[in-house]
Amino acid sequence: MKTISHDSEYILSIIKTAYHKFESVAEGQNASYIPYLKEIDPKLFGISVCLTDGTLIEYGDTSFQFGIESISKVPTALLALKQNGTESILQKIGTNATGMDFGSLFAILLEKGYPSTPLVNAGAIAACSLIEPLGDAAGKWQMIQQNIDDLCGSKTEVLHALYQNETETNYHNRSITWLLKSYDRIYDDPEVALDIYTRQCSIGVTTSQLAVMAATIANKGKNPKTGLQVFDAALASKLVSMIATVGLYEETGDWMFESGIPAKSGVGGGILAVYPGEVGICVFSPPLNRFGNSVKGKKVVQYIANALGLSIYE
Ligand code: GLN
Repeated sequence: MKTISHDSEYILSIIKTAYHKFESVAEGQNASYIPYLKEIDPKLFGISVCLTDGTLIEYGDTSFQFGIESISKVPTALLALKQNGTESILQKIGTNATGMDFGSLFAILLEKGYPSTPLVNAGAIAACSLIEPLGDAAGKWQMIQQNIDDLCGSKTEVLHALYQNETETNYHNRSITWLLKSYDRIYDDPEVALDIYTRQCSIGVTTSQLAVMAATIANKGKNPKTGLQVFDAALASKLVSMIATVGLYEETGDWMFESGIPAKSGVGGGILAVYPGEVGICVFSPPLNRFGNSVKGKKVVQYIANALGLSIYE
C-alpha cells in the first residue's frame, strides 16, 4: 500500500478540481421509490476527505444531512462481526456478491435463503436480526446507533420524515424479511429486524461524518478524531473486503477495475470509500444511475483515487 501526501493544500486542490470538473454533470436521477429522497435538491454536492491523522479536507455542501441509506449496512455488518465473530457471519450471511440488485428476491431464492452478504438488503436485514441484545428492540437500536456515532466521531440523528416515509413504503423489504424468515435466516423478531433496518437507513449524516467513519475503518478501527478504538483492528480488512466485493452492487467489478478503491453507496446519494492505512472519502450528490449509485459521487471518488494513486491493487 502506498503512503499518500498529507499536504492538505495539495489534496484540497484535487478536491476542488474534481468538484468543478463534475459540477455540471446532469446524468442520473434522485431515488424515486422513497418520496423523501425524490424531493432533495439534486444540485447539492459535497466532498470530504479524512486522513488517518484526523485531518479533514472538504469542499461544497459538506454539512448537509442526507439519508445514509445503504451505507448504514457497513457499520451494522461490522457490529454483527464484532458481536458474532467472522465464522458465524460467513455461515449465517456470507461475503459474496449476488450479481443482482440490492433488493433482489431472486438472489435469495437462487441461494435457497442464503443472503450472500450483509451489504445487500437481505443480508443487512439478517444482520440487524443478529444484533444483540436480541428480543429487545430499544437495546438493539441503541447498539446500532452508538456504533455509527462512534465510527463518525459525532452524534447522528434519525431523519424522522425519512423514517416515516420509508416505513410507509417498505413493502419490498418486508417481502425480503419474510422470505428470509421462511428459510430460517432471521434470528430475532422479523418485524423488529425490518424496523431497525429501516431506521438505520433513515439516519441523517454529513459527508464530514462519513469521511471520518471511512477514515476510522482505514485506521483499523481507531477513530482519528476521537482516538476511540471502535473495533478490533483485525476486523478492518474483513470489512474492506466485503465493501470491495459488492459495495456498488452489480457494477462493483467495473468500479474496482477503474478506480481501485473499495466504496459503498447509498440511494440517498452518498458514497463512502476506504483506502486502508491512509484515507477515507465521502461524496454526496443525489442523482443516481440505474444501479442506485451516485453518478457524480462515483466520478469524484474515482478522480481523487486516480489522482492520489489509491488503487489497493498496486
Ligand atoms: N433503504 C433503502 C432500501 O432498503 C436502501 C437501499 C440503498 O441505499 N441501496 O431500499
